[in-house]
Amino acid sequence: NKRSKIKLLLKSSKIGEKTTIMGWVRTKRGNKNVSFIAINDGSIINNYQVVADPNVISEDILKRITTGACIKVTGKVVASQGAGQDSELIAEQIEVLGEADTEKYPLQPKKHSMEFLRENAHLRMRTNTFGAVFRVRHALAFAVHKYFNDKGFFYIHTPIITASDAEGAGETFRVSTLDMKNPPLTDDGAIDYSKDFFERETNLTVSGQLEGELAAMALAEIYTFGPTFRAENSNTTRHLAEFWMIEPEMAFYDAEDNQDLAEDFLKSIISYAMEHCSADLEFLDKRAADENAKKPANERTDLGLLERLRFVAEHDFERITYTEAINILQNSKPNKKKKFNYLIEEWGADLQSEHERFLVEKHFKKPVILTDYPKDIKAFYMKQNEDGKTVAAMDILFPGIGEIVGGSQREENMEKLTIRMDEMGISQEELYWYLDTRRFGTTPHSGFGLGFERMVQFVTGMGNIRDVIAFPRTPGNAEF
Ligand code: ATP
Ligand code: MG
Ligand code: MG
Ligand code: MG
Repeated sequence: NKRSKIKLLLKSSKIGEKTTIMGWVRTKRGNKNVSFIAINDGSIINNYQVVADPNVISEDILKRITTGACIKVTGKVVASQGAGQDSELIAEQIEVLGEADTEKYPLQPKKHSMEFLRENAHLRMRTNTFGAVFRVRHALAFAVHKYFNDKGFFYIHTPIITASDAEGAGETFRVSTLDMKNPPLTDDGAIDYSKDFFERETNLTVSGQLEGELAAMALAEIYTFGPTFRAENSNTTRHLAEFWMIEPEMAFYDAEDNQDLAEDFLKSIISYAMEHCSADLEFLDKRAADENAKKPANERTDLGLLERLRFVAEHDFERITYTEAINILQNSKPNKKKKFNYLIEEWGADLQSEHERFLVEKHFKKPVILTDYPKDIKAFYMKQNEDGKTVAAMDILFPGIGEIVGGSQREENMEKLTIRMDEMGISQEELYWYLDTRRFGTTPHSGFGLGFERMVQFVTGMGNIRDVIAFPRTPGNAEF
């Protein structure tokens, strides 16, 4: 089609040219002598101003131009008098492509609450905030592929329907074509999954890691970037039932190589977004500052959004062991009045998000790579350390987020791995294909998983993970 994207209209010096734009009306104001129509076509955060003279554009057309309507405008680009943009369009012809009944259109030009916008998730991408969020999300996704492609990693697609539930621990969604009201039964009355489509029990994947390891043991450096499903019961601001995970897996990497890669990768994609989304991030920076000002004093962040992104991209992450972290937490006084409560932790317990955020936001004031967790709170495949108590795990903790990455060096030793599986009641027979990587040509290897939405949250400053994915899946929510 022959339309100009508003972004390109602003970029090149198009003043004096005749052009056509198409987009959705945000506001219309003016008087009987002139109308100013703010239009947005999704290409940029700023609305573009169309000037309509009632001697040129009929009253009937002008009446049908309301907030939410979609219009096509042909006219002349002229230098703009107003601040904020270099040019505007003097309309010669306007076609209303789609009207929006003012009585019924939910997104009126005023500030809507996030709850209201979540209920209207099918339309909320038309707001400035969500437009900015999804452009930044796109840039981050692109940056992920660019980063790994530049490093020679191969993008592998791991299956979405899987039989293994090695990590799921009850959080998996069952996939079945059986009639659950009247399922086939075995002799002892259990559901007979041998009659199911795959002739066995199957689930939606909770992680592509195990299959990713198979690929790494052939192609050496690979990554996956796909949807992941967890039937989390928790209603938190950090968990979705359907989220996207980036999981690189590398043969010949030890735990330190893994940490170095993860840190470089995170900094690199943040820098990419800052470079390529400056207008959107400036908008989100102001938004975050407004939100911050509304919070009680003890919950406010010291740095603004852009300052925080720059800081993280430019400074070394702190690297400490789990045991050191527990010592820090035990030596920090609990303070019931402040945000960070209950800082006393026992060695062996998993950290709660308030512990993670204390370490990052109060103690070190920078991202933390936490290593060498107790083996009993981590997955069976992590490399066992010499001490017999810990494994070569790493979690990366970010300000405002807590855990953003989980990873480890993998246990490459067949004997150690199978003993651990037996201890944890994980079937060697079912995972024979996984164990074949250790049986045939094993080698040290490592990998990690980045929760993509948590990264989008960090970069956009959005407080709730439901607001960084177009169609959030959470308990009770799967309408559209
Ligand atoms: P958490 O402790 O926050 O529940 P996890 O340790 O269960 O996370 P992992 O299995 O380590 O998560 O998954 C790797 C990464 O995927 C996490 O570091 C996080 O960024 C992201 N992630 C995990 N669960 C979710 C979820 N339900 N929604 C969104 N992202 C998630
Ligand atoms: Mg979890
Ligand atoms: Mg965790
Ligand atoms: Mg984890």
